[in-house]
Amino acid sequence: MDSLSIAYPIDLHTHSLRSDGALSPADLIRRAADRGVSVLSLSDHDTLAGVAEAVAAGDALGVRVIPASELNTESEWGDAHVLGYFIDPADQPLEARLRWLRENRGRRIELMVEKLNQLGYSVSLDRVLEIAQGGALGRPHLAEALLEKGYVRSYEESFDTILAKGSPAYVARVGLSPLEAVALVRTHGGVPSLAHPGTVVGLEALLPKMVAAGLAGIEAYYGEHSPEMTERCLALARTHGLVPTGGSDFHGRGEHGVDLGAVFVPPETIEMLRSRRVNA
Ligand code: AMP
Ligand code: FE
Ligand code: FE
Ligand code: ZN
Repeated sequence: MDSLSIAYPIDLHTHSLRSDGALSPADLIRRAADRGVSVLSLSDHDTLAGVAEAVAAGDALGVRVIPASELNTESEWGDAHVLGYFIDPADQPLEARLRWLRENRGRRIELMVEKLNQLGYSVSLDRVLEIAQGGALGRPHLAEALLEKGYVRSYEESFDTILAKGSPAYVARVGLSPLEAVALVRTHGGVPSLAHPGTVVGLEALLPKMVAAGLAGIEAYYGEHSPEMTERCLALARTHGLVPTGGSDFHGRGEHGVDLGAVFVPPETIEMLRSRRVNA
């Protein structure tokens, strides 16, 4: 990971070791500060566990941290992930729901380890837990374990082959539907935005349903988007009255996502999102 490229100041989609990223929240903030990012949302999957550490590091280094979580969902709509902004790590009922999602993640990964073992891949759950270092478990941790055992040549290759949806080791997620994820964020006073809309199957059909459930944003600015995809998302934002959001989806693990601040996000986005809080 070299960090010599120029970065933009706002990044609303990042991951740390508290889920499937590779850096501690404090190291993530240090990297952000080094790159000139001044507003960063830590959006770990199904957890707010990194927020306090990120805020403390941000206070010291001049990086404003917006708490968030990315809720991965299970449905016929493909990978519809919901970013929930401005949710509160001290909200205990919310934490109970997130804990349930993390427990489901753990069971899913245990089942996938069993299947991998049956298929002849010798990866141990203990090693996967070591790699995750207490973070919300996910397939990236399995991908690392497979890579270090030499079963694949790259982290990405395991997602294309052994860990792909439809492969014999794959286990479906038990969790929220996209509409339930939007509702959960809204119930807890947050502002939901649809992450990387390009991975949704049936975007134009799903979006009005999500808007009716309370969706407020759409991640128009994203590293893997072509200019045409960004334009399509901006048009959808206008049609549905959504705030165009954006971020790097930096994980620091493999090549998934781009570097911190590498995606342009308009400065007015923060206030537009803030204004969509119900009790703002
Ligand atoms: P899971 O939540 O366990 O299904 O894992 C999904 C996570 O895997 C995403 O949040 C990404 O961090 C990562 N991921 C998904 N697809 C890929 C891919 N093609 N290459 C690398 N990482 C991926
Ligand atoms: Fe991830
Ligand atoms: Fe995602
Ligand atoms: Zn993400």
